[in-house]
Amino acid sequence: MLDNVPGRNRVSIYQPEQEGLIFPEIPQFASVAEEREYRKQHLVAATRAFGMHGFDYGFAGHLTVRDPEHPELYWTNPMCVHFSQVRMSNLILADHEGRVVEGRYAINRAGFVLHAAVHQEYPDIVAMCHAHTTYGTAWCATGRPLDMISQDAAAFYNNHAVIGASAGAVAVERESGWTVAKEMGRNRGVLHQNHGLLTCSRHSIDDAAFWFIALERACQQQLLVEATGIKPQLLSAKTAQYSQDHVGNDFIGWLHFQTIYSQIAATQPDMFE
Ligand SMILES: [Zn+2]
Repeated sequence: MLDNVPGRNRVSIYQPEQEGLIFPEIPQFASVAEEREYRKQHLVAATRAFGMHGFDYGFAGHLTVRDPEHPELYWTNPMCVHFSQVRMSNLILADHEGRVVEGRYAINRAGFVLHAAVHQEYPDIVAMCHAHTTYGTAWCATGRPLDMISQDAAAFYNNHAVIGASAGAVAVERESGWTVAKEMGRNRGVLHQNHGLLTCSRHSIDDAAFWFIALERACQQQLLVEATGIKPQLLSAKTAQYSQDHVGNDFIGWLHFQTIYSQIAATQPDMFE
């Protein structure tokens, strides 16, 4: 992941062929410490982006990214700190048993159950996001997957699942985590019935966070369409697949998030404290 140099290893049609133009570059790291710093900064920005979108619900919600040197450990937001107040110095590093190995804050028990199960089951998943959002949780109550009502929704074509198991029961038991983990490995996003949304990424926290924002938005749009009572025109399977291939991959998720990262880094410098 995160190892292509524009021009040498072009992964998307969105990367300019013309040289000398300003465009986000996938970073190269000289050391594992540099990569760790990058991952932590982007985790903080992702958490603050959740705050800006109003994804907070008391202490619920957690975002994780693996440590680049110790992949059995993951960085996450501290328990009972508002998304908008997360910063470099209050992130915590935890193991799969939910033990905090670095940092002063406590860990969210439900976060540990869900995320540890996924990270343990799928070593290639590097990041995960979960929150109790208004539209996502509302749509999750229907027990239905998303319809392909737009190009944006197509990012989740054959790439999201509804999980009914443990629906509505607070996810503090490990068994619940394993059920979610199974589906997370096969999908970009999971709609946990009567609970909320989850996304994961094999690329970056940027990618997981952007698709979470997109999934919440897709749920909102689906609810708006349903509320009209008008049967929507749906994308064909071919069109949905085409859109996903072009604007629904890991790189695009990362790329979308760079806009959000720049805005937060420029306007909230305390994130680096
Ligand atoms: Zn939850």
